[in-house]
Amino acid sequence: MTVRDTLKEGSDFLKESQIDTAYLDSSLLLSLCMGISKEKLFASFPEEVTPGQYSRFRDLIKERSDGHPVAYLTNSKEFFGLLFHVEEGVLCPRPDTELLVEKVLSLAENDSTLTDVLDLCTGTGCIAVSIRVHNEKLTVTASDVSPDATRVFSRNNCSLAGGSITFKRSSLFDDIEGTFDIIVSNPPYLTTDETDQRMDEGWKEPELALDGGDDGLDLIRIIIDEAPEHLNDRGYLLIEAHPDQMESMRVCMEKNGFENIIILKDLPGLDRVICGTKG
Ligand code: GLN
Repeated sequence: MTVRDTLKEGSDFLKESQIDTAYLDSSLLLSLCMGISKEKLFASFPEEVTPGQYSRFRDLIKERSDGHPVAYLTNSKEFFGLLFHVEEGVLCPRPDTELLVEKVLSLAENDSTLTDVLDLCTGTGCIAVSIRVHNEKLTVTASDVSPDATRVFSRNNCSLAGGSITFKRSSLFDDIEGTFDIIVSNPPYLTTDETDQRMDEGWKEPELALDGGDDGLDLIRIIIDEAPEHLNDRGYLLIEAHPDQMESMRVCMEKNGFENIIILKDLPGLDRVICGTKG
């Protein structure tokens, strides 16, 4: 069987399972089985796939159709131009979250006095690592409560950022010491109902990384309430959440004395990140 036909067979199977990224997913999984990049795969259409590669590919396509994210099957996910190690037990990096990284980098570029950054609920470390790799002048601290995240973060910190990021195992701010110029977070913000629904559908990502309580804002409220104690004057707080949560978050930030509050849109044009300054 040729690469072209194998790719199509996998893609057709995923399409039947209602996977809307069928062709991309099939390409990523076949690249993995053949040990080549996606670009090389597209240049190899007429070549033959070996029986071993084909059999592994079929197994992976089956797992993908059962709802396993590609990132868990390939143990990797590209984010902000970097290839992150990903394992079950941590949230797969999503393109929406690149907005947080872009904003932090632009704030730091425009004001060189902003040097200390904290990434709360870091997971794979995609935010902290991307920030640090793209601006080596920044001192970056990352934290997470999950042991899986601790392990996966550490691997990405070593392989992509030369171990330059300080990690603190902490439930939100509980064990965080000191103050920062920028605090950034993509915390769990789905409602418990939304999380339960995903679990019932066989969603493979951890509840811990998704469930934000009744209205999805339980952790976000704590972050907004406690951030001022951990921010330097005129320091920034940036949080990712669902578009419908932005107005409640704005009210909560105003109540906690935040100023210059702005809401940023992601690539599809949805309100995705709120940003404000302490005083
Ligand atoms: N944006 C993610 C989703 O809808 C949720 C991630 C999160 O809760 N931080 O799957």
